[in-house]
Order: sequence, then structure tokens, then C-alpha cells
Amino acid sequence: MKTTIDFLEQLLEGKINADERMFLESLDYIYPDSINKKDDSVLFLAKKMSTKFLIILGKSILFDKFEGELILGNHGKVCPLNHINSQYLREYFPFTSPVSHKGHPVTVGLGDRLGLASPGHLRLTKKYKFFPILAQQSIRELNLTGRTYKDVLDSVSWAVFQEGYRNGFGADGDHLKTEEEVQMALDCGFTMITLDCSDHINNSIYEMTKSQIEEQYLLIAEATRKDLEQKYMNKMFAVNENFKIFFNDIDFKKIVLVYLDTIEYTAHIYQKFLSPLNDRIDFEMSIDETLFATSIEAHYFVASELIDRGVKITSLAPKFYGEFQKGINYIGDKKQFEEEFALHFFISEHFGYKLSIHSGSDKFSVFPIVGRITKEYFHLKTAGTNWLEAIRVIAQKDPLLFRQIYDFGAKHLEDAKKYYHIKTDVGDIISLEKISDISLPNLLNDDNVRQILHITYGLILQAEGEDDQYLFKDKIFSLLNTFEQEYYQGLYGHIGKHLEKLNVEKIDVKK
Ligand SMILES: [Zn+2]
Repeated sequence: MKTTIDFLEQLLEGKINADERMFLESLDYIYPDSINKKDDSVLFLAKKMSTKFLIILGKSILFDKFEGELILGNHGKVCPLNHINSQYLREYFPFTSPVSHKGHPVTVGLGDRLGLASPGHLRLTKKYKFFPILAQQSIRELNLTGRTYKDVLDSVSWAVFQEGYRNGFGADGDHLKTEEEVQMALDCGFTMITLDCSDHINNSIYEMTKSQIEEQYLLIAEATRKDLEQKYMNKMFAVNENFKIFFNDIDFKKIVLVYLDTIEYTAHIYQKFLSPLNDRIDFEMSIDETLFATSIEAHYFVASELIDRGVKITSLAPKFYGEFQKGINYIGDKKQFEEEFALHFFISEHFGYKLSIHSGSDKFSVFPIVGRITKEYFHLKTAGTNWLEAIRVIAQKDPLLFRQIYDFGAKHLEDAKKYYHIKTDVGDIISLEKISDISLPNLLNDDNVRQILHITYGLILQAEGEDDQYLFKDKIFSLLNTFEQEYYQGLYGHIGKHLEKLNVEKIDVKK
């Protein structure tokens, strides 16, 4: 703290009086990388009694703008990290605003359900070459955590300011389904839209007989049919020198029936919302939340049709072979995954967008394949694993709270399974009674424990006791605020392991 205060004194050109020094010394912590000088003011983040504030010393235009309590004979201000101040922060310090990730080969979505994880993620940008998408939340996650897109982006802006990170980050309105949701994310300043097309994918086709398919196919407008037949039916397409795709009669009709609606919906959303913004926003099409793996032919057809309709996608998320369950390793045949993943990649390369890998947390066994095949050009989304690292800190620091959270989660597993598909069942719930406190953090390496805690986060955070107080939420936040450095360290290690296995290029520190 002493060196930080000396540094502040230097910035203020030696103008620190006894009162000011006493005030600075009364703070629990000053975030050294957050110190910024602008006009005649020095700004920085500080913590007192587990709460963070923005402190401004020295008068200037921006001093007057920020909301807060005047101190030190009106020459200082203590400002809450509220929404209005977040907007001023983004205005005066543009590096705290999200931007498009185009042009960055490795982009990683780092969803943060609590709004506390980003500083841990940002520390990894000093070691690996990747562009972070720090704000990344789906509507499902917003609803389950009781947050809004404003909260999500505000937390990230403060985290970026805290860490003094200036190399850009994105904000992903993840798994948006409706026009209203897309509009809301754009209004809140999000720079990436992930359109979830699952409601428009017609999965029932896969259960139909050949004659039923023929029948359904004839219900499509004749002009559309003729146009598509001419383009694809019984035609061969060269994706690259060694890889050709052929659409036989029946497969073609099946693909049209399953995906036509999806393509039309995506084109509509693009024309209405994205096209007027001229590439400032990254647009991802996601067809991953469906029952069946996306076939190679279907992927080609969807991409080709989007491009013909003038839709520019930054990335596309197919459903890959095997199971990508939340918060645990890949389940399935790795050889088969590798073969199909390579073909998906060649298609994306051919059309010029990125492959996006959803539910990308903890898929360590296939990460080396992803890194190698894409030659480190991909988008990966992680989210729940960052929450599990928070739970690991709780297991280390407050075993009793961890036990209560786990028991609650286990009891509500069936409710949470309405929102998430996982393999863990009631029969997999283990009792913690005989497990010693010291062994609790290791439980976070057990797939069943991970999945239980992974999907019940919403219920855990929203749970209220009889006195209308939150059962866990306030305790979780208070503990993580107290042990924030431990949380950052845990995230650094865990997401670092992801980047390592993906073989993401390291930054040469010698330079
Ligand atoms: Zn997804």
C-alpha cells in the first residue's frame, strides 16, 4: 500500500496533504493497475469493508460528472460502482467499452455468472495470445441469476478498469432467440450477438419415413424448392482439394426440411438488426442446442444459403459429434470427433468464418485436436466452469457453507434438470457426511459433484430463507470479495489449463 500511495502522490505532483494521506491509508486496498490520471484528476479503484469504490482526487470536468460522496474538503469523491458511473467510465476510458473481435484468431468466451471473475481471466491475457469475450450471458443465465445485461457489462467494465487492461474485449449476448432479446443486447452495448436457432430447427424430420419426407417437402413453396434443387440436388461441391460434398436426392430434401426455417429466420434477424450496423457487431449463428449432431452436408448447406442471402456471420456453432455436457470433459469417440471436426472446420474455412465451440468448459481431451486442426483459429465458450472455481474457493475457505450449498443443490437437482441436460442423476448424489473438511475442495474434480453444482446455480443464488433473506447469495459474494485474489488465482490456473491444452500461442515475455 505504501508504494501505491507514494505513486499517487507523484501523480498528484506532490500535492497530498495530511488528511488525504490519512484517507488513503484508511482504505483496505488500492488496486494499483487501476490508477489513471485524466485532466486534473487521479482515479482509482479501492476496497473498504469488502466493497469496491471508485475514488477521484483532484477537480476536473469528469470529477463533477461521476456520482458520489464529496470528501476531503470537496477535493475528493467516493463513487459507487453503479450503472450511471459505469456509463461515465466507458465514456472517459474507452478501453472499458466492448468492441468487435474480428481479426483475432483465438477468441474465448468467459461467462461470469457472479460478475466477479473477469480480473482472473484478464491476468491470462498477459500470458496467452487470445481475445477475451468477458461479458457473455444467455437469457437463461440472466433469468437464473436475476441479473440484467446492464449489470453484466458494468461488472466487466469495472474489472477491466481494475486490471488496467487496454487490449480490447467483447460482450456476447449469448443464445438469444427473439427480436426483443437481440434488440435489448444491442441497446445495452453488446458487441456480439449469438442467435440461437434451436426453435426453428425441425427435428421431427429425422423420425419420418422416406415417403413422409417427400410429402412434407412438397409443402414448401414451389419456387423455393426449384431454386434450391437447381443449386444443390445431385450436385457436388469442392470444399477444398481433397474434400467434396454431394447432396443426394433424399438427404437434400431432409436437410431443406430441417434447416430452411432456421436459415430464413437468421437472414431476417441479420437484415433487420445486424446489417445496418456495418460489421461493428459480431454475429454468430448457433445450431448446437438440438438433439442431433449437425451433419457435414447440413453445415455446408446452411452456410452456403446464408451467404447467398447476404448474411455475414463471424462464427457458426454446429453441434459436434459426441457429448459436450456442462462443466465436464468430452464424452464420446475422440477419433470420430476428430474426423468430423476437421470437415466442419474445412467448411468454415471455405466460407470464411470461425467455428464456435459451445459448452467448451473442461473439454480437455479434445482441446489438442481443436487447436491443431484449426491452426489456432476458433471461438470457444466457457461459463459454468468459472462458477465452479468460485465454489472451490468456498469449499476451501468456508466448509460449512460449501456443505450447505451442496446439499441444497443435490436436493434441487431434478428441478434444475429442466434447464440443462446432464448425465448426473439423483442416484449419483454422494453424501458429504463422512468427507473431512480438508477433502472438500477435491470434490470439485468429481464429475457428478461438478454437474450438480453447475446446473443448480440459479436456485442456489435465488434461494431465500423464511426471513426473506437470501440463503446463500450474500454469503457467497461476501466470501468471494474477501478472498478475491484466491478466486483470481483459481481461474488463472483453470482457464489457463484450457488455453494450454488448446495450444494457444504464448506471449513472448522477453520482448
Ligand atoms: Zn450453445
